[in-house]
Amino acid sequence: MGIRILENKTIVLGVSGSIAAYKAVEVASRLVQAGARVEVTMTAAGAKLVTPLTFQAITHHPVVTDLFDPRGELGIDHVALARRADLLLIAPATAHILARMAHGLADDAVTTTFLATQAPIVVAPAMESRMWQHPATQHNLDTLRRWGITVIEPEAGRLASGAIGVGRMAEPPIIVDTVRWVLGRGGALSGYRVVVTAGPTLEPIDPVRYISNHSSGRMGYALARAARDRGAEVTLISGPTALAQPAGVDFRAVTTAREMLEAVTDAVRDAHALIMAAAVADYRPARPTAQKIKKGEQGLTLQLTRNPDILAEVVGRYAERTPRLITIGFAAETENLVENARAKLKRKGLDLIVANPVPATFGAEGTQVTLIDREGHVEPWPPLSKEEITERIVDRLVELLRGASAA
Ligand code: C5P
Repeated sequence: MGIRILENKTIVLGVSGSIAAYKAVEVASRLVQAGARVEVTMTAAGAKLVTPLTFQAITHHPVVTDLFDPRGELGIDHVALARRADLLLIAPATAHILARMAHGLADDAVTTTFLATQAPIVVAPAMESRMWQHPATQHNLDTLRRWGITVIEPEAGRLASGAIGVGRMAEPPIIVDTVRWVLGRGGALSGYRVVVTAGPTLEPIDPVRYISNHSSGRMGYALARAARDRGAEVTLISGPTALAQPAGVDFRAVTTAREMLEAVTDAVRDAHALIMAAAVADYRPARPTAQKIKKGEQGLTLQLTRNPDILAEVVGRYAERTPRLITIGFAAETENLVENARAKLKRKGLDLIVANPVPATFGAEGTQVTLIDREGHVEPWPPLSKEEITERIVDRLVELLRGASAA
């Protein structure tokens, strides 16, 4: 599961007749690269825009375009496809196919597969703004949502007609991320609410300057995705980063440590676990000025004041609650990794701490971390990618949550 959630899954990709069909080629490619078996079915209009051969070459499977193809599996390909699917993804979905789906019309291979499948369904609409905004389209989308179908909102931007508006199909990484989220439902963490923090905090000096740190947010975002892929309801509280928001996650953007404290306090109220991967600034300028500080001939001394320790405050507040709030912290250390991390785990009252060597970790693909738990077990892990690390941390979270609910 998790990182390998797409491995050996059959994703049936229905391609309808929007010019965004060319982006569906990249969606298919990314799914195949993640280990999925991708089988494509196309509407007649879709097959005019991108040839079935393109999809066949990428997926290594024949493309189903014709309901009555005598060379198909017993002539009933769409039913076979519908049965095999672990998930049906319609991308791009035109206004026309959304209307056919909402009304149960089954006049081609894609819509027949739609009616015949019991797999979860995701649609990624693509159309002109006016068509998107039309009450008919919105009404059809409401119907599909009511049936439990996941709709990936189109984006605003330049449309094929040259006009600017809402209607561009979501980008392939967002579509693949949504597929992972939907496949993860019902996983080991379903029914659990997990709060994850990520990124740095920015502490203003004046209206144009701030102090901060090098955290990229990648570890926290990967953790949020890994917990989501196991079915958790995830709230991601993030300082400013350059990363895309994970799909299917309640995302809250914050800037300063104090804003993060407020957001975390609010989010953990009904959560089962808190993972603090954020690099919270320990200090902030004591008196940020309303106007830009003018440079003078002399040096400048900034007075800093301590920021609240979010983990320590939250742990203190929820120590007595049942079920107990499970807390996982990170210790970024430049020296004495294990001793410093162990002291932090004790001081903050955590269940688990992930000690990682900085600055090597910042922005890197992977790193070598050491885990320390409440009982004092020290587990040095081999060098791993951030995705693999987050996967293993989430394995531990599953154990901790099971232990907490058994207690
Ligand atoms: O004390 P130190 O900053 O090294 O502890 C790191 C851990 O504590 C991280 O999990 C970090 O997110 C959290 N932290 C916090 N509030 C702070 C500083 C750090 O919750 N003000």
